[in-house]
Amino acid sequence: MFETLSQRLRAAVDRLRGRGRISEEDLRSTLREIRVALLEADVNFEVAKGFVQRVQEKALGKAVLESLTPAEQILTVVYEELVEMLGGEARQPVLKSEGNLWFMVGLQGSGKTTTSGKLALFYKSKGRRPLLVAADTQRPAAREQLRILGERIGVPVLEVADGEPPETTRARLRQHLTFDYRDLVIVDTAGRLQVDEALMEELYRLKVALGPSETFLVVDAMTGQEALSVSRAFEERIGVTGLVLTKLDGDARGGAALSARYVTGKPIYFAGVSEKLEGLEPFYPDRLAQRILG
Ligand code: GDP
Repeated sequence: MFETLSQRLRAAVDRLRGRGRISEEDLRSTLREIRVALLEADVNFEVAKGFVQRVQEKALGKAVLESLTPAEQILTVVYEELVEMLGGEARQPVLKSEGNLWFMVGLQGSGKTTTSGKLALFYKSKGRRPLLVAADTQRPAAREQLRILGERIGVPVLEVADGEPPETTRARLRQHLTFDYRDLVIVDTAGRLQVDEALMEELYRLKVALGPSETFLVVDAMTGQEALSVSRAFEERIGVTGLVLTKLDGDARGGAALSARYVTGKPIYFAGVSEKLEGLEPFYPDRLAQRILG
């Protein structure tokens, strides 16, 4: 992912290298190329516009053009803005010594169930005692998928029953925790192929009943601009505290994923980088920006 964007951004800046002097016109044409590169990579229009504006302001403000190495300085500004767009400092989710309940939401196929398993494995390997909750009240197959994942990683899975009311799920969870101590509960919720009212209502009721400490929206990085409207809908109806981007190992253009943090204003905590359960990494904006700029 991001290969084309990466090549295009580097090419835009490389054209300035080796020039003794760079005029404002040179800078403007480079910024145009950067803007087109972002848009073609599927970065959200507003995000691309703001990005280029800030690079321009910084470049002019810092007297970059008069410096001895203008191309390098512009590259630095582009790098700084990319890091900013991706969220700035790397962030970790809140993890108390106990009583953590993480709610996983997202569309069907976004990678929610896989990510729930990945998170459980990730924190188990750090000495936590996770419990997975398969909370899809409509699709037994989804619950079975999580049960199988749980068996593979040695993490228990509490399954809801068909049509189970949220209050019953809360009571069963409480009861489970009285005989099996767990410090991190990860709730895999129902997904749909599209955002719909019934889904949002059901999720909201479950969220209110369980009172999660974090709500993660799982966003498939392969799904272009649609990912952004989905993110907004979940943010408005359910409220999310952070994002997980999945399938960053895919070959899509990826720009929508790059805009997700900016559009939702929520930090990206993790990235899914393979189908395997080990394929989850904490998200580092600076590392991804470095990778993109090569
Ligand atoms: P859910 O419907 O949201 O629960 O999605 P699933 O967890 O079932 O994932 C849908 C598909 O995406 C499955 O085939 C997963 O193996 C795959 N998947 C999930 N995360 C990743 C990832 O980070 N990289 C890759 N390549 N595939 C992923």
